[in-house]
Amino acid sequence: MAAVNLSASRVARPVVDTSDRPAAVGLLDRFGRTAIDLRVSVTEKCSLRCTYCMPEEGLPAIARRDLLTPAEIGRLVGIAARDLGVREVRFTGGEPLMRADLAEILAETRAAAPGLPMALTTNGIGLDKRLPALIAAGLGRVNISLDTVDREHFARLTRRDRLPAVLAGITAAQEAGLAPVKVNAVLMRETLAGAADLFAWAVDAGVHLRFIEQMPLDADGVWTREALIDAAELLAALGTRFDLEPIGRDDPSSPAELWQVVGTDATVGVIASVTRSFCAECDRTRLTAEGSVASCLFGDDEAPLAPLLRGGASDDEIADAWRTAMWGKQSGHGMDRASFRRPIRSMGAIGG
Ligand code: SAM
Ligand code: SF4
Repeated sequence: MAAVNLSASRVARPVVDTSDRPAAVGLLDRFGRTAIDLRVSVTEKCSLRCTYCMPEEGLPAIARRDLLTPAEIGRLVGIAARDLGVREVRFTGGEPLMRADLAEILAETRAAAPGLPMALTTNGIGLDKRLPALIAAGLGRVNISLDTVDREHFARLTRRDRLPAVLAGITAAQEAGLAPVKVNAVLMRETLAGAADLFAWAVDAGVHLRFIEQMPLDADGVWTREALIDAAELLAALGTRFDLEPIGRDDPSSPAELWQVVGTDATVGVIASVTRSFCAECDRTRLTAEGSVASCLFGDDEAPLAPLLRGGASDDEIADAWRTAMWGKQSGHGMDRASFRRPIRSMGAIGG
């Protein structure tokens, strides 16, 4: 199948009927969910080309003038926190460290939304050098993506030989006291055999490892439901080396279910995004790098806020447009339905 990334301007935008939407509340949708967790993509660029995410050649470049500036991101997150009930923001991408002005983005956000916890999802490359400035600007937590600690396997999965740089980023985050450092691994046939080794490494390194079922958000469009490696297969593989018992979730709003190695403090998280969908409890809202609201990773109906932002709209008008976009959020990803259609944009293009 051909690559499936399109720019925001080509994304269809159905009209959202708001006649039954309550006025002046938070980011409520018609299924009774309220979004309080904001993900902001800051770029489509990346230093890796993970096969489950990016095409070999990278995503089509977003014109510089179309990317939100640090001040614009700060303003939008400020509106989200002040007027729309958002309680946490996470910067993602693409790879957020590809933005040279990431510390400025954090500083603008901190000024516009004082007290709002700020986190980063990153592949960790270059984090060691950037961390002091990011922490000074208000960064509180990091999630770092790592699928294998085998260098040759890492190079194949990400199409780049950068494992030492990722490990340096993880160590730097730990040394800077950003505990707990969470490490995300995507579960695939290619990573299943090394899953127990990765977990053993995580226990030793003192990071919290979480496996995520692979979603049909790869730009190359090769994902199939039949080839999915699910949480049950992962637990069977880990069970050959570790005696695991389920201990529930550490945080009720987290999609990760935890298993503990019996008799130790070591835990591993499993995010069964495909087989145990948490859509009914979804509390996320997303902004793309061009400033459009994406109410769901699996919806193609993005609502652009940038024209309002750049056209002199008031904070109230922007907040209202954001509420309208979320009112139209779909009930779930529907991956198990015959009618399921994968979204136009891939994970790296929406912001994972
Ligand atoms: N570049 C950063 C990173 O890799 O952490 C941030 C962006 S990345 C798109 C965010 C997260 O999405 C990563 O943890 C990555 O593993 C995950 N991801 C990417 N493609 C995925 C897919 N098809 N299914 C499940 N998770 C995916
Ligand atoms: Fe880049 Fe993150 Fe996608 Fe990997 S998962 S290609 S690091 S954006």
